[in-house]
Amino acid sequence: VTTGQTAQDDEVQVLDPDEAPVKAEKFSSFDDADEFPREIREELKSAGFPAPSQIQAYTWPLGLRGKDIIGIAATGSGKTLAFLLPAFAQMMEENHRPERDGAGALVMSPTRELAQQTEAEAQRFGKCLGFRCVAMYGGAPKGDQMARYRQGCHTIVACPGRLNDFLEGGQVRLDGVLKLVLDEADRMLDMGFEPQIRKILARLPRKRHTLFFTATWPKEVRKLASEILNRPYKVMIGNREV
Ligand code: ADP
Ligand code: MG
Repeated sequence: VTTGQTAQDDEVQVLDPDEAPVKAEKFSSFDDADEFPREIREELKSAGFPAPSQIQAYTWPLGLRGKDIIGIAATGSGKTLAFLLPAFAQMMEENHRPERDGAGALVMSPTRELAQQTEAEAQRFGKCLGFRCVAMYGGAPKGDQMARYRQGCHTIVACPGRLNDFLEGGQVRLDGVLKLVLDEADRMLDMGFEPQIRKILARLPRKRHTLFFTATWPKEVRKLASEILNRPYKVMIGNREV
């Protein structure tokens, strides 16, 4: 993490759902995040991370309170844990059991590489809770991904195309999803995934939290965000209103 950590507080802006600037709650240290399971806080410290990055410091409190969030921050600012950890905390709190409920968190990812990285981070920080994650992306055998899904997973990290293949085949259920994450939403739109994303959205429970992360904030991205988020808070790190 570079940008996130070096960003000063005056480069952070948080807007409430009416777009009014607010003085938002911030977790300056991992100990402030005491609503996370203890195992998670220990994992963060043993990873050698000195403190939450800016995007984490501001999105964790909002995520834990169940708010929809738009996070706008550069690559390398620690967005993965910004969305994974509130999702883990909610699954713990609701005693989410994949064998009964299916996956509780769905992360949509633009590329196979990103899906794999996110899966690795979810395994690393979920292991201490007994949480499993499976990644679903094209260019790899469906059978392996399906076999791992069937063992029960708390988190699915998926590229939209492959996930739709599984949905159309009736192989994956999404009715237990509590937290939906669109990661690198701007890139997913650039890559033409919007129709695929909309198909997936139609299968998700209406009562859910949605976290929307993007590095840029052009018109098309705003439009999608306005349609799928429910009174979101906006967290902007650095001068990213572009
Ligand atoms: P982004 O999604 O914003 O591009 P990542 O979530 O991929 O960023 O994080 C980039 C790297 O920083 C990863 O290796 C991750 O493990 C690490 N990282 C995450 N949070 C912190 C933190 N609070 N302090 C230091 N490093 C961190
Ligand atoms: Mg990322």
